[in-house]
Amino acid sequence: MSNYVERCIELCKQNNPGEVEFHQTVEEVLSSLKPVIEKHPEYEEAALLERLTEPERGITFRVVWVDDNGKVQVNKGYRYQFNSAIGPYKGGLRFAPNVYPGIIKFLGFEQIFKNSLTGLPIGGGKGGSDFDPNGKSDAEVMRFCQAFMTELYRHIGPETDVPAGDLGVGGREIGYMYGQYKKIVNRFEGTLTGKGLAWGGALGRAEATGYGIIWYAQEMLKANGEDIKGKTVAISGFGNVSWGAALKLRDLGAKLVTISGPDGYILDEDGINTDEKIATLLELRGSGQNVCEPYAKKFPNAKFFAGKKPWEAAADLYIPCATQNEIQAEDAKSFVDRGVKFVCEGSNMSSTNEAIKIMQDGGIIVGPSKAANAGGVACSCIEMGQNAGKTVFSAEEVLEQLHGIMVGIHKACADASKEYYGKYDLVAGANIAGFLKVANAMMEQGLV
Ligand code: GLU
Repeated sequence: MSNYVERCIELCKQNNPGEVEFHQTVEEVLSSLKPVIEKHPEYEEAALLERLTEPERGITFRVVWVDDNGKVQVNKGYRYQFNSAIGPYKGGLRFAPNVYPGIIKFLGFEQIFKNSLTGLPIGGGKGGSDFDPNGKSDAEVMRFCQAFMTELYRHIGPETDVPAGDLGVGGREIGYMYGQYKKIVNRFEGTLTGKGLAWGGALGRAEATGYGIIWYAQEMLKANGEDIKGKTVAISGFGNVSWGAALKLRDLGAKLVTISGPDGYILDEDGINTDEKIATLLELRGSGQNVCEPYAKKFPNAKFFAGKKPWEAAADLYIPCATQNEIQAEDAKSFVDRGVKFVCEGSNMSSTNEAIKIMQDGGIIVGPSKAANAGGVACSCIEMGQNAGKTVFSAEEVLEQLHGIMVGIHKACADASKEYYGKYDLVAGANIAGFLKVANAMMEQGLV
């Protein structure tokens, strides 16, 4: 039976040549499902894994816009609508120069399980473009977003597919895309989440992903007899996710000492814990320069390490919040050598499969991103409910519900890994718990 898993991994590689990020996540998820597949031979008869790894629909399109010099620019646009077994496709849009189908498919595939873990009725999808918003003027970003939505609008809708942000897509881009969507369809409806508070957005959405990661990490530590209070924490990135994480770490009495960017990392041993310091993260993001060094110029006690990763800094808990594969095998080995106990992934697929294996074999508790960063999309779904009900929820209502969801996700991961592996393995547990709900829905809905 485990042969079935191997065959499906191989098939996916053959059918999607060169899409290494997509192969990586399919291999990681499917391998951990072996005991589930053994227990349920009916999945193989229904070609369930072949169907799960093939997007229900993939749309690629041309995006044409004019830059500030009057030059015509052409980018690629994508939306992969992966799985709608438990709800409308839901997932972000990523604008980054390295975007190609392999990145969007990896994100879309992960999103199926992440969304399922939230316990909310949302399917999985993802989209984006190879457009690089860094260094572009506001007017250029607006023209690009309008051109992108002029094609995408026909494929999405509140009951069909609800996009949101991801890397390179924040409140500004969602605003420009929503404006264009509304102009074309002439309806004010909840297609797109992460909207501004005055026009349908949910209070708490900006903080949701970062808060959720820290709540998940808190549960992970608790389950292992430790308290997040008083812990020293190293994170990467300085964007919206890192900002939310910094706020919640301060609330819970932990000490954040690093942030990072493509240029290197900042070590602030006094703690990144004042309003001014935490607000600086958003200023760095808003500068459009994609560098973190200016933090050290503003706060001279902090040190900047050019070209280095924050993983070399001493900490009790490490939380990657920047992008995929930021924890490589050598980082994992160094964690094990230094006796690190906890790593909680904030960015999608933060670690290579080899790094996860090294960390877990070395006794490190790893919180997988598809569980730990589910707070963002969970809050998006709350925003969808708010829009559908034509109402507004208070920030307290949203965050209380979100906290409950994150505690529930940790429990679902821990329970599933105990049932199928007889141990506390959140990586396998997240895959299994996320998979079972979708698999059962697919079985019940027949061969579609
Ligand atoms: N891009 C985020 C994620 O990776 C949020 C998706 C959403 O809110 O739809 O989950």
